[in-house]
Amino acid sequence: MHLIKALLLCSSFCFYCSAGAQDYFDYQSTTPCDPRVVKAMMPYWTTEFGNPHASHAFGERAAFAVSEARQKIARILGGKTTEWIFTSGATEANVLAICGVMHAAPQNKKHLIVCATEHKSVLETCKSLVRRGYVLTILPVNQDGSLSLDLLKQSIRPETMLVSIMVANNEIGVILPIACVAEICHKHGVLLHTDATQAIGNIPVSVSSLGADLISFSGHKIYGPKGIGALYVASHVKIRPLLYGGLQEKGLRAGTVPVPLCIGLAKALEIAEEMRPQEARRLAFLQGIFLQRLQRLKGWRLNGCPNQRLPNNVNISIDGVDSSDLLMSLPDFALSTGSACSSEAHFSHVLAALDPDNIMPPTVLRISFGRGTTEAAVYRLADRLIEVVQTLRITKPAGGKRICKTTKGKIRS
Ligand code: PMP
Repeated sequence: MHLIKALLLCSSFCFYCSAGAQDYFDYQSTTPCDPRVVKAMMPYWTTEFGNPHASHAFGERAAFAVSEARQKIARILGGKTTEWIFTSGATEANVLAICGVMHAAPQNKKHLIVCATEHKSVLETCKSLVRRGYVLTILPVNQDGSLSLDLLKQSIRPETMLVSIMVANNEIGVILPIACVAEICHKHGVLLHTDATQAIGNIPVSVSSLGADLISFSGHKIYGPKGIGALYVASHVKIRPLLYGGLQEKGLRAGTVPVPLCIGLAKALEIAEEMRPQEARRLAFLQGIFLQRLQRLKGWRLNGCPNQRLPNNVNISIDGVDSSDLLMSLPDFALSTGSACSSEAHFSHVLAALDPDNIMPPTVLRISFGRGTTEAAVYRLADRLIEVVQTLRITKPAGGKRICKTTKGKIRS
C-alpha cells in the first residue's frame, strides 16, 4: 500500500517537474487561470452553490453574482448588460452567432461571407450551413494575411445576411480592420459578427470601437477559466437559440448558468483590461527582441503582416528542417507548429490561405508570449532554436519531396 502511494506521489511529482521544466510559449492556445480569478470563483464552487434560476435565497445570491459579472463585462467592453450572453466558450459563441442569425434570417437572405483565415469554429459552421442550402463566400486574404476591403464590398449581394471576420488571428496574429468592415457591412444593411477571442487583453477592444453587431470571446485566453465565454448580441439582432429547454440567457441558451465560471470570466476580463496597456508594451518588446535575435539565423520568414499584429504572436517558417524533428529537439519549450506538411491532420488552413499557389513552407512555428514569459526565456528559446535548426540542417536536412494537402483537397508536392 505504502509502495503504491509512493509510486503515485512520485509519478505526479515527475509529471509536475517535467511540465514545469518547460518554458511555456503557447499562450495563444491557452493561459493559466490567474490566482485572483480562482479566488473570486472559489465561494461559488462551495458555499454559494445555489442555482441562479431558483427563487430561494441561495438562488438569489447566485443570480445576483451572475448579474454583477454580466454588468462588469458590459462596463468593460460596452453594450447593454442584457446584450451579453454567457456561452461555454468562443466556439459556442461563434456557432450561436452564425447559426443563430442565419436560422432567423428571411428566406431571401441566405448568403454569408467569411474570411479564409477564420477559426475553424467559424469556417466549419459556415460549411455546415452550405450543406443545408445556405450560400457562402470565403474571402481570400493577401500574402501577409490582410484583407482587401474592396473584395469584401464586391462580395456583398442583396441576399447577404451576415459577415463574420475575426479581430485578430490565432495563428499569425494579424489584426484586421473591423471598424472599417463594420462600416461597409452596415452601409449595405448586413450584420457583422467578429471573433475577438485573441484580441481581448492584447489590443483595445470594445463594442463601440469595433462597431460589430455580434462579438465572441473566451475565458481561457485571458487567464480565466476554461469552459466559459460570451457573445455580445446587439438588441436589434434577430437570433435563434442553438440549445432549447430553458429560458436562461433570455431564452438564447438553455441550461443552468455556470455561476463560478461567469464570475471567473468577468474577473479575468477586469484584470486583463487593467494590465493591458503595460503588458501589451512588454509583450511587444519581447516580440521585438525575439525577432531581432533570430536575425542570427538564415532561412526563415515571419508569416503575417509585421505591423498589424498582436504583440504576443510570432509565426515563422523555417527552411530545411522537419517540424517534428524540430519540436522533438526543443523539449524544454512548449511550442506549437502552425503547419506540419507531413501530417495532414495538422495542416494549417491559415498558412495555406496566405500562399495558396505555392509549395507550403516546410516548418512553421507559432510562438506566443504571455504574462509568465521573461526576457531571459525569450533569449533562451531564440538561442536554442538557432542552434537546433543549424544542427538539424546538417544532420537531418528536410526538403525535397513533401506532400501538402490544401483545404481545397488539391495535392501539392
Ligand atoms: N476563436 C479563436 C480565434 C480562437 O483562438 C479559439 C481558441 N483556439 C476559439 C475561437 C475557440 O475558443 P474556445 O476554446 O473557447 O472554444
